[in-house]
Amino acid sequence: MTSDIRNIVVLTGAGISAESGLATFRGPDGLWEGHRVEDVCTPEALARDPVLVHRFYDARRAALESVTPNAAHEALAHLDAAWPGELLIVTQNVDDLHERAGARRLLHMHGELLSALCAACGMATRWAGAMGHGPECPGCGARALRPDIVFFGEMPYQMDRIDEALTRADLFVSIGTSGAVYPAAGFVQTARHYGAGTLELNLEPSAGSFQFSESRMGKASRLVPQWVSEILGARNH
Ligand code: NAD
Ligand code: ZN
Repeated sequence: MTSDIRNIVVLTGAGISAESGLATFRGPDGLWEGHRVEDVCTPEALARDPVLVHRFYDARRAALESVTPNAAHEALAHLDAAWPGELLIVTQNVDDLHERAGARRLLHMHGELLSALCAACGMATRWAGAMGHGPECPGCGARALRPDIVFFGEMPYQMDRIDEALTRADLFVSIGTSGAVYPAAGFVQTARHYGAGTLELNLEPSAGSFQFSESRMGKASRLVPQWVSEILGARNH
């Protein structure tokens, strides 16, 4: 069956970056780095308390400087370089560890810490430092820059491109995601509907585990390199 696979869609979540030292979304206390998600990840929170929201994302952005990609990011970058068929890595992560490992066929559906979005003109700008209390947009000059993060209640990026890849996929692989955040949590159903095989790699069974044709439980740094060498090995035989 593996040798018939040509088109692959990979979905990654916070779990793939956990072993690099970035906390996942919902820790054991249900908080993200000590915050309730409603207080930092919604348009209402940004309007109510911009100082808190900017401070939170400034800290997440600064934390990127002290972490590096792990074996799971590296294995996916290797797959990207070596896979002759179609591949789309869709990440829910806002860190830049996939691209630092060398992945190219990558899409950030929930935005990026290293990007700033102007709420006035819509322009996105690369942003590496702190944002402070809302700096000026280099495009239109408005003091309306915010983190280029898809908050709860906002539309994820490039859904058309993702849906299109899912309809053509022979294999859908979900890595390190709890399956609690829609629409990403529904990708497995779409892929199955269009006939793809489905594989979950996660530390523990997720909310949607039962929907996958195969689930493997363990750390991403072990499971992902193992799966990548399996799929590349099957291709070469
Ligand atoms: P989540 O925190 O809800 O779930 C993480 C999943 O990863 C859990 O199922 C957990 O069992 C699993 N996991 C933990 N350690 C693992 C490991 N070593 N190997 C494999 N799996 C492991 O994360 P999510 O589903 O991505 O939540 C969605 C939101 O969280 C996203 O929108 C994302 O933007 C945001 N987020 C991003 C980052 C980041 O960019 N690194 C970090 C935290 C949260
Ligand atoms: Zn602007």
